[in-house]
Amino acid sequence: MERENFTLLTGLQARKLNFDAGKRCTGVDVVDGAFGRTTTLHAAREVILSAGAIDSPKLLMLSGIGPAEHLESVGVEVLLDAPGVGEHLQDHPEGVIQWEAKQPMVETSTQWWEIGIFTPTVQGLDRPDLMFHYGSVPFDMHTLRQGYPTGENTFCLTPNVTHAKSRGTVRLRSCDFRDKPKVDPRYFTDV
Ligand SMILES: Cc1cc2nc3c(=O)[nH]c(=O)nc-3n(C[C@H](O)[C@H](O)[C@H](O)COP(=O)(O)OP(=O)(O)OC[C@H]3O[C@@H](n4cnc5c(N)ncnc54)[C@H](O)[C@@H]3O)c2cc1C
Repeated sequence: MERENFTLLTGLQARKLNFDAGKRCTGVDVVDGAFGRTTTLHAAREVILSAGAIDSPKLLMLSGIGPAEHLESVGVEVLLDAPGVGEHLQDHPEGVIQWEAKQPMVETSTQWWEIGIFTPTVQGLDRPDLMFHYGSVPFDMHTLRQGYPTGENTFCLTPNVTHAKSRGTVRLRSCDFRDKPKVDPRYFTDV
């Protein structure tokens, strides 16, 4: 972090990538998270977009790169018709099982989720199709607010499908960068 040629800016949200006439990315418009004023950052050499599986396609589409028909339907000017942007979203369903332990659980850990289990559901597969995390803590942030019981002295397993076949999409709800994108993971339709 302590380098002369490195500056880390935090608390900013990228709202749009900027391009020159030759469609080379020249920088990015960012908004201060606290006050909402837009500033343009200029790139001397290159721009690397790394905003995660949902927000990377969102930012590309807000910048005019994506399926032309969809961009037009939400009022974004099309810079490049790129039908693959926002397609092929892969996610894997995961469940949580929590047990109350009969013995006292550990009280310190480097990160509480230290074990991963990979196993096949049927004989003969060339690789495991089921994965579990093992956690030495309650994993109840979702179930608790739905009214399910929980405990203090617990451990958890999280079975998940490692090779989900379903593919979903990320689409814009509007041309407003503050809107959450419409994420359709298409769980269970063809898993
Ligand atoms: C519950 C859960 C469990 C997981 N478990 C595992 C695991 O056990 N093993 C494993 O290998 N992987 C796991 N993953 C997946 C792993 O976390 C991701 O693959 C990885 O974090 C992706 O890294 P990334 O840098 O591409 O994106 P991210 O980690 O998503 O980082 C993107 C960053 O961009 C920022 N950002 C987004 N939009 C903007 C914007 N407009 N302006 C500015 N900043 C923006 C976000 O705030 C974020 O900090 C798990 C994911 C989840 C959600």
